[in-house]
Amino acid sequence: MQKKHLSAVERSAKPLDPAGSLKETVSYAFKNSPFYRRAFERAGLKPEDIRDAESFSRVPFTTKNDLREAYPYGMAAVPLNDILRIHASSGTTGKPIVTGYTRHDLENWSEAVARICAMAGVTSADIAQISFGYGLFTGGFGLHYGLEKLGATVVPFSSGNTERQLSLMQDFKTNVLVSTPSFAIYMAETARDLGYDPLDFKLKIGLFGGEPISEAMREDIEKQWGLKATTNYGLTEVVGPGISGECPEIKGMHILEEFYYPEIIDPQSEEILPDGSTGELVLTPLFKEGFPVLRYRTGDITRLIAEPCACGRTNRRMDYITGRSDDMIIIKGVNIFPSQIEEVLAGFSEVSPHYKLVLHKKKGSIKDLEVQVELTQSGFSDRFRELEALESRIRQSLRSTLSMAPRIKLMEPKSLERTTGKAKRIIESEDQSLE
Ligand code: ADP
Ligand code: ZN
Repeated sequence: MQKKHLSAVERSAKPLDPAGSLKETVSYAFKNSPFYRRAFERAGLKPEDIRDAESFSRVPFTTKNDLREAYPYGMAAVPLNDILRIHASSGTTGKPIVTGYTRHDLENWSEAVARICAMAGVTSADIAQISFGYGLFTGGFGLHYGLEKLGATVVPFSSGNTERQLSLMQDFKTNVLVSTPSFAIYMAETARDLGYDPLDFKLKIGLFGGEPISEAMREDIEKQWGLKATTNYGLTEVVGPGISGECPEIKGMHILEEFYYPEIIDPQSEEILPDGSTGELVLTPLFKEGFPVLRYRTGDITRLIAEPCACGRTNRRMDYITGRSDDMIIIKGVNIFPSQIEEVLAGFSEVSPHYKLVLHKKKGSIKDLEVQVELTQSGFSDRFRELEALESRIRQSLRSTLSMAPRIKLMEPKSLERTTGKAKRIIESEDQSLE
């Protein structure tokens, strides 16, 4: 059978009546979720009090901690019998966060992901290799069903086994790669080590997500693979991937406002900020039956862009995430995001895109920051003087951006650990002897 193009999926529109969707979402949560019934009672609110976007701001926020405490099924709003699938976030700190999907949720989720993929330029004629892990992580299954819905040919590789991924990619004529940006860089490096030229692979589009992509990283990936790199955003607590993604203009990520209601707040005062102001993204999915969440504080720092996009889509965009509030490092009173360090390092041709930040702590508080910088083969030198001079240039450049000078440790080429998933940049080390 000839594959047909799903044109409906290509278009996404704002909900006809956002206030109506919010009212329905609130009254559904109140009726069906014991968690939200309690939250409303504590706040002295009734569902009838929520009539429009303005009154919606009276709904209490939901935090990561609320979801942790609800482990495993405390957020459920339907009998478990109606839950078809469970996913969970990695849970590196504390208990994992669990979410469950009804049939209706899975349908909507894959529709949302299909729209994001179509927006990035993927069509039913494409062959997409999914190198996100399949499992509790939402990335693998999320993209899988979205791409299937779009009608693309899916190669469900999952993460790991880089050499085999590469050889199948070549044999299957894969032209779309789904992975974290870190893995796309690692794959190119491995391809070269094995004697392939990544440009021979015919990759056309990268659907990257799960972690930020810096401008330098995007350029590097595009140049190495000869593809168009797009990024898309999502999080397990809200649904998984399929919340926002780039159109070919690459000027921020369009939010699927027909599925989610976004707000930006000041993370300290919790006041709602107007479009264009930077703050913490708060999301309310408008379709979830299984584990609904209202006003979820994502911890991600961004801003909403309301100006029309040259692509013609009318939904607002969110700017690229500059950092997760969880990742902010506070040292000697200075706030630092790993992305600031990454930007400085990208300006040095002698260093690779792989770096680590070691937080030297004493009794839990950060005393010193060490930046481990990996040299490229050509940046590597046998001359101590040259290395010393490079180290000092990097230190000075970081000092002027961060207003503090971290310790620099130059590492040999290819000595830092690579990842097949999200990059883990931060290492914590406790040392009681620190001053
Ligand atoms: P975990 O919290 O274990 O990493 P998730 O897979 O749910 O689990 O991760 C969601 C988070 O990943 C988001 O809150 C955001 O910080 C980050 N993220 C996801 N996609 C992007 C993206 N395109 N750009 C920047 N950050 C992203
Ligand atoms: Zn656009």
